[in-house]
Amino acid sequence: MRSLHTERHRTQHISGLRAAVLGANDGIVSTASLIIGVAAASASQSAVLVAGVAGLVAGAMSMAAGEYVSVSSQSDTEQADIARERTELATEPAKEHAELAEIYVRRGLDATLAQEVARQLMVKDALAAHVRDELGLSDVASARPLQAAVYSALAFTLGAGLPLLTAWLAPEAYLASVVGVASLVFLMLLGALAAYTGGASILKGITSVTFWGAMAMIVTAGVGLLFGAMG
Ligand SMILES: [Zn+2]
Repeated sequence: MRSLHTERHRTQHISGLRAAVLGANDGIVSTASLIIGVAAASASQSAVLVAGVAGLVAGAMSMAAGEYVSVSSQSDTEQADIARERTELATEPAKEHAELAEIYVRRGLDATLAQEVARQLMVKDALAAHVRDELGLSDVASARPLQAAVYSALAFTLGAGLPLLTAWLAPEAYLASVVGVASLVFLMLLGALAAYTGGASILKGITSVTFWGAMAMIVTAGVGLLFGAMG
């Protein structure tokens, strides 16, 4: 039967989008800052590029590791909840039926109808009904650690690749400033895209990522200059 549900809700994609934007934002800010810092310490263009590539790989791997660990623990919690639910359904089906009916009453059904809906759904697939309506877990939102790790590493790599490519193409004498300006433009575009797809204020989206990105680059450039002067 053709699905009647044709309108697309932003919320379905929001968590994946947010992870991708955060990953790309991290990639741009951390790699651009690293490149600007090393360039400010008057390193050669090839040394800057080596540092940039190392920063990209290290950043992507740490993003993937961090995402995998955090989503895995979420997945473990979900699996533990589902296992507990399975046990409760096996040992106390009547109490579980009352619990589910109560949830439907709270959602607006009258008690008789709620009891009947709970009964029919538990006959069809009791665990699925409880996992969905009691635990609030759905297939769409269930934790996928490996997928999350790969996505965030990819997003970081795409983000980091922008200032790195700019550093490769920029004239050596103006490398730090060209990477700085280009990275701020990349951040503005990313901020606008994230705000637009999330249905939020575009101006606010641009301002916040650009401000913090600029702060990170300025501070790192300062540190690079300091070390360059001491070198
Ligand atoms: Zn239950």
